[in-house]
Amino acid sequence: MGKIIVAIDGYSSCGKSTIAKALAKYAGYTYVDTGAMYRAIGLYTLRHGLTQEADIVAALPLIKVGFILTDGAQHVTLNGEDVEGQIRTLEAGNCASRISQIKQVRAFLVAQQQKMGEDKGIVMDGRDIGTVVFPKAELKLFLTASPEVRAQRRYDELVAKGEKPNYDEVLADVNDRDYRDTHRAESPLKQAEDAIVVDNSHMTPDEQMKVIYRLFDEKAK
Ligand code: C5P
Repeated sequence: MGKIIVAIDGYSSCGKSTIAKALAKYAGYTYVDTGAMYRAIGLYTLRHGLTQEADIVAALPLIKVGFILTDGAQHVTLNGEDVEGQIRTLEAGNCASRISQIKQVRAFLVAQQQKMGEDKGIVMDGRDIGTVVFPKAELKLFLTASPEVRAQRRYDELVAKGEKPNYDEVLADVNDRDYRDTHRAESPLKQAEDAIVVDNSHMTPDEQMKVIYRLFDEKAK
């Protein structure tokens, strides 16, 4: 059985990374969370107070984003520092969403992502994986769920992390991020023509994974 590339795209808080991680484990493939890469660059700009596009672009050669395995979990690194714990906040997510609109930031990360997929055997999730990073991926999934369902999931995640979110703010944030992701000039989030849509608003995690494993088995055979 030859290895394939699995591209998973979709809106924020649709469970993309949970699904991608589970599928990578099932397939024995490498998982790459591209959102974490944008978040790491966002964190860099927050730390250095960079707000102007020209300053952010000028800093790119100084930024090295990588991944390490810590206790079996993948953590993103920023210039060698494990920043996994710091990139999962609303602030870092919003900042990632803003810097991801910059053409040079996208080109910088897309080149690294394409390199990671050279040997196939990869499950990558993001917003532009099936359209820009791997337009020839053998399996493309486009995940979606209603904004309210996604806001509730995001809310529960933040509460589990000890934050005290406000549901209406989280929902507004989900809607804002959807808007920015789908309306930006550079690689807006859109479904690839050959992507299979999975709406998981009303599916249990188990039901959803059954569907996805079956789709993978059909393509990988
Ligand atoms: O998926 P996650 O919420 O971690 O991504 C953070 C932000 O990074 C997204 O809101 C999106 O704007 C951006 N992103 C992107 N392209 C990707 C992955 C993430 O523009 N491939």
